[in-house]
Amino acid sequence: MKAYVSKSFPLLSTVLFGGCSGGGAAGELGIVVVCGVLGFGWIVWMIEKSKSGGSQKPSARMTNERGISLDKRLEQKKGSRLDFKQRRFIAKNIGLYQWVPVDLMGAWEERILVFLDQFPVTHLKVKKATDEMRLLVAAEACLLIVRRPISDYRHLQVVHLWEDEIEGNENARGTATRHEVNLSWSYLKKTIRNARDGHNLTLHEFAHLIDFADDGVAQSIPVPGHSEDHKEWKILVEQEHSRLMKAYESGKNYSIRAYGGYESIKGDKPELFSCGTSAFFERGSRLKRECPNVYDALKKFYGVDPASWRKKKKT
Ligand SMILES: [Zn+2]
Repeated sequence: MKAYVSKSFPLLSTVLFGGCSGGGAAGELGIVVVCGVLGFGWIVWMIEKSKSGGSQKPSARMTNERGISLDKRLEQKKGSRLDFKQRRFIAKNIGLYQWVPVDLMGAWEERILVFLDQFPVTHLKVKKATDEMRLLVAAEACLLIVRRPISDYRHLQVVHLWEDEIEGNENARGTATRHEVNLSWSYLKKTIRNARDGHNLTLHEFAHLIDFADDGVAQSIPVPGHSEDHKEWKILVEQEHSRLMKAYESGKNYSIRAYGGYESIKGDKPELFSCGTSAFFERGSRLKRECPNVYDALKKFYGVDPASWRKKKKT
């Protein structure tokens, strides 16, 4: 994630940085850019919040309606499947395809079809991305929610694919706000076939989108404040962030990449959930062994158990 503040908070969305580069561990830990206008932005936000009087804004109602509509679309797609060519293309290009259990395939394909139908994907912001590009983005984004409702993406308005560098965020390979995902196509292509390295650009950025969805903040707590799981998540993030920092400080390797330790000026830890998600899907057994509490929380949240997945033989 690069900008990790909702677009409903636009002053900050352009100036807070994390940088989802997938780069080296040492470099990742050093990426903390302090934003001088944070205090000013916070004041503006508080004023805006007080103006709203605590009532639900029309935009919030709209996004709820969007979520209901997306879930309805998914219901209507029940039983629909990708065509042979689409399935073969995904199987050939996405490393995780060979690991996903057969009993998840139907739900996965239904979500891919709704995603393709509902979410625009551009190439360089100037034209529609090709069918192949859209298919790979949809497939990876929907693997994340294969056991969850597609309304997780109710705030998403557009995905932009960039040839290499992301315009305006040249140091990042992916960025996410509450409404938009940007992905470097060359980096996505370079990494999409490796299903076991614990790095997955698309899963990472869409995990941010899910983290944003409940409250407009990415702080590695993907459930709303009123949820019975919220307190548990809050404690988990604090404890596991500390464990990760200690592991890297003592020179150890770790199942969650070092960038998961990034902390914002406000003290939020937005990268633990996204980096943990990539580790969960791509090195589930190791995560389960090293960080059983993180693994169990993600298993409960995503409804899947990647540590039990076994590689299928190619057909
Ligand atoms: Zn990130």
